[in-house]
Amino acid sequence: MTEKRMSWAEPFKIKMVEPLFMTTPAQRVKALEEAGYNTFLLRSEDVYIDLLTDSGTSAMSDRQWAGLMLGDEAYAGSRNYYHLEEAVRKYYGYKYLVPTHQGRGAENILSRILIKPGDILPGNMYFTTTKAHQELAGGTFVDIIVDEAHDPRSLFPFKGNVDLAKLQRVIDEQGAERIPYVSLATTVNMAGGQPISLANLKAVRALTAKHGIRIIHDMTRVAENAYMIQQLEEGQGARSVAEIVFDICSLTDGATMSAKKDALVNIGGFMATNEWDVFEEARNQVVLYEGLHTYGGLAGRDMEAMAIGIAESVQDDHIRARVGQVFYLGEKLLEAGVPLVRPTGTHGVFLDAKAFLPHLPQIAFPAQTLAAEIYVDSGVRTMERGIVSAGRDKLTGDHCYPELELVRLTIPRRVYTQAHMDVIAESVARVYQRRDRITGLKMTYEPKYLRFFQARFEPLRA
Ligand SMILES: *Cc1c(COP(=O)(O)O)cnc(C)c1O
Repeated sequence: MTEKRMSWAEPFKIKMVEPLFMTTPAQRVKALEEAGYNTFLLRSEDVYIDLLTDSGTSAMSDRQWAGLMLGDEAYAGSRNYYHLEEAVRKYYGYKYLVPTHQGRGAENILSRILIKPGDILPGNMYFTTTKAHQELAGGTFVDIIVDEAHDPRSLFPFKGNVDLAKLQRVIDEQGAERIPYVSLATTVNMAGGQPISLANLKAVRALTAKHGIRIIHDMTRVAENAYMIQQLEEGQGARSVAEIVFDICSLTDGATMSAKKDALVNIGGFMATNEWDVFEEARNQVVLYEGLHTYGGLAGRDMEAMAIGIAESVQDDHIRARVGQVFYLGEKLLEAGVPLVRPTGTHGVFLDAKAFLPHLPQIAFPAQTLAAEIYVDSGVRTMERGIVSAGRDKLTGDHCYPELELVRLTIPRRVYTQAHMDVIAESVARVYQRRDRITGLKMTYEPKYLRFFQARFEPLRA
C-alpha cells in the first residue's frame, strides 16, 4: 500500500507572492451592479479569490519559469518541441505529437481528420468545445455515460464510467463503420469532475477492439483521474499515479489535451496519436489552423513549460495535495450543511442551487443569484452552471430548464492556501444562513450565443 498521510499539505513552499485586491462590501455592490450581476463581467481586480475556472490559472513552478528562459524560438525544429515530444512519450506513451495553442485546437484538427458527415461519436458525457468540433465535422454525439452521472445525490465513486450496454446498443443500431471512435474523457468535467475506473476502461477497450473502433482520449484531467483510481479502485492502491496515467493512455489510440488544466501551464495543448497516417494528416492540417507542426501556435518557451509541467503533474505528492485541497473545501461546506453535488469533484465543488434556494423558481435564476450573493459577501468569484448556461431550446425558443442548477467553485492548482479555503467555506455558510431573505434576478440583456458569458441581470424586488 502507498503510505497514507493524514494531511494533504502542499509539497512546495512559496517563493514569490502576488498581492490580492481587498475590497469593501460597498465596492463589491457597485462592481456587481456594473457587471450586470454576472460574475463573468467582473474585472479581475475587483475579485479577492477567483474560482471562475481552473483553466490556465495554475501557478507554475520555479523550474517551469526557468524553462521559459530556455525557449528556442526557431520557426522550425525548436528543441523545446523535442523535449515536449519526449515528455509525451515517457509519461503518456503516445507515439506522435502535434502541439496546438490549447485543447480546442487539437479537437478541431482531430475531428476534421477522423469524422465524416453522418458519423456517430459515443462518449462519457459531452464537453462543450469537444462536441462543437464533432458537430462542425458533421458528426453526432451520443451520451453513453452511466446513469449515476446524472444524479447529484448518487455517491457512486466512478460516475465517469461508460455504460457498456449503452455503447453496445449504439454499435448495434448504428453499425461500427459509422463510429470513427469512442470519445473518452478522464475525469468527466461536465459530470462535476468524476473519474472513470481502470476496469471500466479495460472493458471499453475490449468491446471497441472487437468492432475495430478507436478510443480517443480527452486527457485534460488524466492525472486527477489516475489519483482517484489509486485511492478507490481495488488492487490499484500500491501503484503510483504516473504508472496509472501511463496505463490509461495505453488503453487508448490517441488523445487531445488542454494543458491549461492538469499539465500546469497558462496556455498550450496538443493532439497525440499512435497511428502514422493520422499523424501525417494532422501535420498537414496543423499548418492551416495553428502553425508549423513543431510549434502549433505556441512559443518555444510555452512548449518547454508544458514539458516540465507534464512531469510535475503526475507526481503523487502534487496530485494528493491538489485533490486534497478541493476535498477539504467540500468537507467544510458539508459540515456547514450546504447542499453539494456528491461526491466532491477532483477540480471543484459544485453547490446545488435548487436545494440552497428552494423558494426561488428556476426562472429567477437561482445559481446566478447565488454566485452574485457569494461575491457580495466576500469577493469570491464563482460561476453559474444552470439555466443561464443551458441557453434556449432551438425549436421552441423557450429557456432550457436543466435538471442541475449549480454554482461551480473551481480551484486553481497551487494558487490558494488552506486559509483561503476556510474563507470561501465561511462565506458560503454565511450566505446559506441568510438564504431565506435572498430574492432572485431577472435577465435584462441576453446575447445570442453562449449567453452566460455576457448576459446582464437586475435584482427582483421582494
Ligand atoms: C478545457 C477543456 C477542453 C478544451 O480545452 P481548451 O484548452 O479550453 O480549448 C476540452 N475538454 C475538457 C474536458 C476540458 O476541460
